[in-house]
Amino acid sequence: MSADDGVRVLAEKFASEGAAEYLGEPVTQAAHMLQAAMLAEREHAEGALIAAALLHDVGHFAVTMTGHELMSGTDTRHGEAGAAWLAPWFGPEVTEPVRLHVAAKRYLCAVEPDYLAALSPASVYTLGVQGGPMQGPELAEFEAHPYASAAIRVRRWDDQAKEPEVEPPPFSHFEPVLRALAR
Ligand code: FE
Repeated sequence: MSADDGVRVLAEKFASEGAAEYLGEPVTQAAHMLQAAMLAEREHAEGALIAAALLHDVGHFAVTMTGHELMSGTDTRHGEAGAAWLAPWFGPEVTEPVRLHVAAKRYLCAVEPDYLAALSPASVYTLGVQGGPMQGPELAEFEAHPYASAAIRVRRWDDQAKEPEVEPPPFSHFEPVLRALAR
């Protein structure tokens, strides 16, 4: 599939599966991801980070997680699944922050007490099934990752992108950024 096809598939996913409720939050999946991209754009982030913010939860579209998976603590998979799904079209500057955005949450919970205190109730709940705050060698391992700081930036936009009153730009607004990055 060409880059154009990829962008079209994503646009369709936002319009269809994106209308679903975002696990326990007062916004839809699509509004959540569009708000994250809007925040990245407002901070004049580079295109790859705007794209990563926009696409960080495509793993929720691409795979259906079963209740069993949630209960057995494997929700880190939506980052992995999303990155794998995007890999035919985008390079690591987009897929790695997507893959690591759950790890970034677990990292921030360990190093910033205020971060943990400010998480939404739904996000505190999923933290449990995501493995809880990082501990021991996991922290240095995460910090050593070349895309750790990019993942942390995406994560902060992710956390702020849950405002029911905020009307983000439509998906088409971000299509030029995606086209410039897609291969
Ligand atoms: Fe998210």
